[in-house]
Amino acid sequence: MRTELYIDGQWVKPLKGGSFEVVNPATEEVIHHAPSGTAEDVDVAVTAARRAFDVDGWPQKTGSQRAVYLRAIADGIRARQQELARLEVLDNGKPLPEADWDVADAAGCFDFYADLAEKLDNNPEEPIALSDSRFTSKAVKEPIGVAGAIIPWNYPLLMAAWKVAPALAAGCTIVLKPAELTSLTALELGAIADEAKLPPGVLNIVTGPGSVAGQAIIDHKGVDKLAFTGSGPVGSKIMAAASRDIKRISLELGGKSPFVVFDDADVEQAVEWIMFGIFWNQGQVCSATSRVLVQQGIYDRLLARLIEETQRITIGNGLDDGVLLGPLVSKRQHGQVVAAIDAARAAGATIAAGGRRPKGFDKGFYLEPTILTDVPLDSDAWREEIFGPVVCIRPFSTEGEAIALANDSRFGLAAAVMSKDDARAERVAAAFRAGIVWINCSQPTFTEAPWGGYKESGIGRELGRWGLDNYLETKQITKYVSGDPWGWYIKSAVHA
Ligand code: NAD
Repeated sequence: MRTELYIDGQWVKPLKGGSFEVVNPATEEVIHHAPSGTAEDVDVAVTAARRAFDVDGWPQKTGSQRAVYLRAIADGIRARQQELARLEVLDNGKPLPEADWDVADAAGCFDFYADLAEKLDNNPEEPIALSDSRFTSKAVKEPIGVAGAIIPWNYPLLMAAWKVAPALAAGCTIVLKPAELTSLTALELGAIADEAKLPPGVLNIVTGPGSVAGQAIIDHKGVDKLAFTGSGPVGSKIMAAASRDIKRISLELGGKSPFVVFDDADVEQAVEWIMFGIFWNQGQVCSATSRVLVQQGIYDRLLARLIEETQRITIGNGLDDGVLLGPLVSKRQHGQVVAAIDAARAAGATIAAGGRRPKGFDKGFYLEPTILTDVPLDSDAWREEIFGPVVCIRPFSTEGEAIALANDSRFGLAAAVMSKDDARAERVAAAFRAGIVWINCSQPTFTEAPWGGYKESGIGRELGRWGLDNYLETKQITKYVSGDPWGWYIKSAVHA
């Protein structure tokens, strides 16, 4: 575990020498002291990233040249797959098989953007047909510049990959700040980039509190683009900060995503996907389908099976075999989720399963997977993100009612629908006001497909080719090709 920041290709102590505790959420033990960067460290990092962009020629490398580094980083992640997955469990608490999946996806993300970097070479210019034949024009894509990336704690390495891989592929340089709760694997990404011989300053990693290191990144004049994943309130601060000097932004924020299950659905499959949609990663998933709407005809049967299966989930330390639900990430997060459950009860909701610290777990930030019924539509439990293993479930009768309930939210990140009637599923998918829609499943995420939200769930799209566009400017180059003089101020007679 590292005690230094990765800046300009070097491991350096924070200039003010600070550190913060890293706590294992399964045991509550302090397992490390991570380096705590301040505005001074951010300034050194941004200066290095600027030089790498403005002087050292990272953007001038061809896409194919940059792809070589990206593939080397992907290989470096895969070579340390087990070690990185274990670190992720110690830091975040998630079950090891989930961490394994995340690490593999992070490597895949670097490979995917290596391919797209190469495609930038093959298709660099788009000719534009103009209405005036005296001119020709083309559009070219160019990297935005220095990106500042700020990420949350729920998928520490994967969220780093989602930002770093497209930024580097596009030709940007980057300063990355991981969440203070989970900095370990992001620092290892620095080591992997170093082994891949990434030029100094192209990737800089500054760990530290959001209010200090994060704030310094969003305020820094040398940063051209802010890429953020996290909560709505911090997203608003970032938008406000970006407005001062018109930084480009992309924001991936929270959600309260609906899952509509029609009564022709297979109940067993519905129960499985509902559980995957809310208990994976302890429900600490921005796209978690936390509002489940089930058509009246199967509601009772489905709820009974959901309660049964939910109570069977093996809870424990993420490193133990067979565990499918680990602790929440921190004491604070645990307290917030418990408070949200208490508030739901006070508002009139029924706790149909879970709701407490599981028996036999005195240490660790554990919480039973929880099902809430009778949740008032105007309560926080129904409307606000809980970001824990807590699902609200309610019956509906008609398709129109389900769509209205699903869309009645200030968020619009994801939505899911399950039905054997394909036409109906497609109709409902089209009616959802959300950036990500799943039919007959919930949560599967692919590097190739766009990711991002409508409404208060964010701005812009990550992943796929859309993720690359996040880090590119579009430039038009227009040429006067007519042999005739322009003849506006200086009349042609004079030329003649
Ligand atoms: P958070 O907003 O508190 O923190 C996210 C990051 O922002 C952290 O690195 C933090 O240090 C930093 N930060 C905090 N204050 C800052 C400031 N003033 N200036 C700059 N940076 C600052 O969120 P979190 O608790 O880490 O994550 C949970 C939230 O993230 C949830 O709301 C969840 O829905 C959202 N999330 C969204 C997605 C998505 O793809 N849309 C993915 C994961 C998490």
